[in-house]
Amino acid sequence: MKTIGLLGGMSWKSTMEYYRIINETVNEQLGGLHSAEILIYSVDFHDIERLQSSGDWDRLTEMMIAGAKRLQNAGADFLVIGTNTMHLMADDVERNISIPLLHIADATAEEIKRHNIKRVGLLGTRFTMEKDFYSGRLHKKFGLDVLIPSSEDREIVDRIIYIELCQGIVKDASRQEYYRIINNLTAQGAQGIILGCTEIGMLVEQADIDIPLFDTTEIHARKAVDWALKK
Ligand code: GLU
Repeated sequence: MKTIGLLGGMSWKSTMEYYRIINETVNEQLGGLHSAEILIYSVDFHDIERLQSSGDWDRLTEMMIAGAKRLQNAGADFLVIGTNTMHLMADDVERNISIPLLHIADATAEEIKRHNIKRVGLLGTRFTMEKDFYSGRLHKKFGLDVLIPSSEDREIVDRIIYIELCQGIVKDASRQEYYRIINNLTAQGAQGIILGCTEIGMLVEQADIDIPLFDTTEIHARKAVDWALKK
């Protein structure tokens, strides 16, 4: 089994989910007492959020590269960055390490393609919804058309992520807001919805929504196990 290097803490709530899903999936596949070989480097998210808000992406890139190198030097066979937003600098990270990076958008797009879906809605932080690194990659590399919520609704989606979900707060009123926004995207033609933030799975349930939800945490963590167990 290969050793997974998980760059986490963004937020630590979602890193717990990664850790659980990765271990459960290894156990599903190997049985018995099997669990994952995994190294986790978890950051202080307070610093990350401050730098994001002030737009200091250069400093954030340095920090992500430093974290990735720590995992590489500790013996990770490949890198998993446990957040969609911080894939903004994934190309820079990849250029600065010698182990492979398992990109969250690629893993998600492959899953969407398996459902024969062409047009998807994207929920995530304002950075993930508005900057080109995510939807541009989905479009250019995988031919997907990506719909995002209106600017007012993007503000709501983003606020709930940072003020509630990243702090482990799950409110029914916020769930209803997400459902309203998902239904709007569906009415605009979305055939599936990307939960493009690693905490959104804490809030929304597939059973409440008619079209497929693509939970990036679940997809990314399961794909990490595929890589870890690949001969
Ligand atoms: N976990 C979130 C994501 O998947 C947001 C936290 C962050 O800004 O990294 O984008």
